[in-house]
This record gives sequence, structure tokens and C-alpha cells, in this order.
Amino acid sequence: MSGMRLVALGVGDAFSALHYSTALAAVAQDGRWLLIDCPHPIRKVLREAVLASAVDLKINDLAGVALTHLHADHCSGLEGLGYYSRYVLGRPESIPLFTIPAVAELFRQRSDAACFVVHDEVERKSLAAGPFEIRARTVRHGDVPACAFRVECGGRSLGHSGDTVFDRRLIDWLAAANLVVHEVGAAKPGDERHTSYAELSGLPPDVRLKMRLGHYADELDLSASVIEPLRQGRVYEV
Ligand SMILES: [Zn+2]
Ligand SMILES: [Zn+2]
Repeated sequence: MSGMRLVALGVGDAFSALHYSTALAAVAQDGRWLLIDCPHPIRKVLREAVLASAVDLKINDLAGVALTHLHADHCSGLEGLGYYSRYVLGRPESIPLFTIPAVAELFRQRSDAACFVVHDEVERKSLAAGPFEIRARTVRHGDVPACAFRVECGGRSLGHSGDTVFDRRLIDWLAAANLVVHEVGAAKPGDERHTSYAELSGLPPDVRLKMRLGHYADELDLSASVIEPLRQGRVYEV
């Protein structure tokens, strides 16, 4: 059994009518887990993922949140998560949240930021969240500050692009991990905000093999994809 599993909580882009917005749970062998992005309605998203995957994702076992950026499809569940943890579960501790300084600066202006303790040094050095080691890399996503993550746990590693333009150097950085989730939010190459399927499908076979697609449009032909698309609710051995 591998040292980390991935549960695809959501796989859709911001406009999907079929899927929840893309969010991931990285799960350690001891059951502690890391949430990567947090769309609304996060408790319903988690409940359905637990039912589909048979992997337990209790808030009490949550080691932290890795936040790529502040578009609603990635962050709209943070208020619900933070307030539920504090006021319903009565957990006194703030939830560790990992992101880059430019995202942290904007996030701190929100009232729900009080429910989180923000760690923004994660691009300079890797930081620990329970059994997870997290590092980040700034990406280009229109004019919105955003980052990608690499997460290590139990001798395995997971890369996640977040929302980004196609960037070959970023993909090299992500591909140092055992498994890579990459967004495919653009309809065509050269987009200023997202990456297209045409760009990713031209990658070398060894990179495509370890890559899974997330953040996809309802129109993407999943059965024809040369890169395996993530399926909502499914568990992946990292
Ligand atoms: Zn998005
Ligand atoms: Zn975005």
C-alpha cells in the first residue's frame, strides 16, 4: 500500500453543471488528510466523496488546507469549513492554511481568515502539516495571484497545478512527483488563464502517464483523452 492516497472531491471547472469544482484530498496512512482547494458546499462535497470512496475524511483529522488562489471555484468553501470547525465542532485551534504571500495578503482581508492560521512561506521552503510536507510554486493565471503545490507524505509525492497557463517548466517541477493533477480549463492553446487539452496531449508519454486531468469542462471528451481524467469520488494510490 502506498504512503498516500488521493480522493478526487471534485473534477469540474468553474462552470460545470456535472461536477463539483476541482478539489482534492491527500490522505496519509494514519487517516490524517490535507485538503487542496475548498469549493462550496464543502461539507456536501466531502460527504459524497466519503460515500463514493469509502475513505474517511473527518474534519477532526484535517491537517490543513493548501489554497491555490482566490477564485470562487477554489475558495468559496473556506468560510463554511472554518465556521463549522470553530462554532459547530467547537474546535479551538485554527486550521493551518498554506499558500503564497500574494494570495495570503488578499485572504487575510476576509472575516473567515480568523478561523485559519496562514503559512505563506511555502514557496521559500517546504512546510509540514501533520504527516504532509508542502511546497508551492507561483503560476501565471491571468492577473490573479495563484500557485501550484507539491505534497509529500509516506515517501510518495503528489503535484497539483492549480489554475495556470500552460508552462513547460511548471510541468517539469510538478513531474518530480509520483502523480500529477493538471488543470485543463482552456478551450484552445495560448490561453492567458488556463491550459488546453491540445497543449497537454503533446507532452512526452512518461509525463502523460503520471498525469491526471482535473478542472475540466463538461464538454471535454473523457473517453478520447490520452491523459487519464480524474473521476469525481474515485481514490487514487499516489
Ligand atoms: Zn478554477
Ligand atoms: Zn482560477
